[in-house]
Amino acid sequence: MAKSEANPRAESARQTLRDFLKRRGIKFTAPRRRILEAVLEMEDHFEAEQLLFELRQRGERVAKATIYRTLPLLVDCGILKQVRFEVKQAHYELCFGENPHDHMVCSRCGRIIEFGANEVIELRARLAKKHDFHAVAHRFQVLGLCHGCANQCPAAASIEPADRRDA
Ligand SMILES: [Zn+2]
Ligand SMILES: [Zn+2]
Repeated sequence: MAKSEANPRAESARQTLRDFLKRRGIKFTAPRRRILEAVLEMEDHFEAEQLLFELRQRGERVAKATIYRTLPLLVDCGILKQVRFEVKQAHYELCFGENPHDHMVCSRCGRIIEFGANEVIELRARLAKKHDFHAVAHRFQVLGLCHGCANQCPAAASIEPADRRDA
């Protein structure tokens, strides 16, 4: 069988998804399994369309609608993380068994800069403790301009960020 059969991370991701779907009364169908297999091999950030392309490349026939319905389930069970929230097309990345990191997104060129999330996680733990909340994940994203765009667009870069928390 495929090498992922022997891969403990893939096996444990399958188990996670299987248990999660069971709790929600959703069937772990063959297309969902194929989507998971492909997701586990995606590198970097991707959109649903890229995953569809990847599946087609492998000769897998999975309905587009099934992909769009399965991705949020993979986010909810902690296998994927949604990377961008401010654009129509959600961007995802694999976070199962990865080092936690967050993102800075350039609003001009779309460049994504990753940074280790340990400090954010410490803050999260502190806030959760204060509010007696059991935190399992967070959404944190820094919007702005990358170095190159800030140089090309000094007017935009000099806008006082003040209190833009709405992004
Ligand atoms: Zn940029
Ligand atoms: Zn990332």
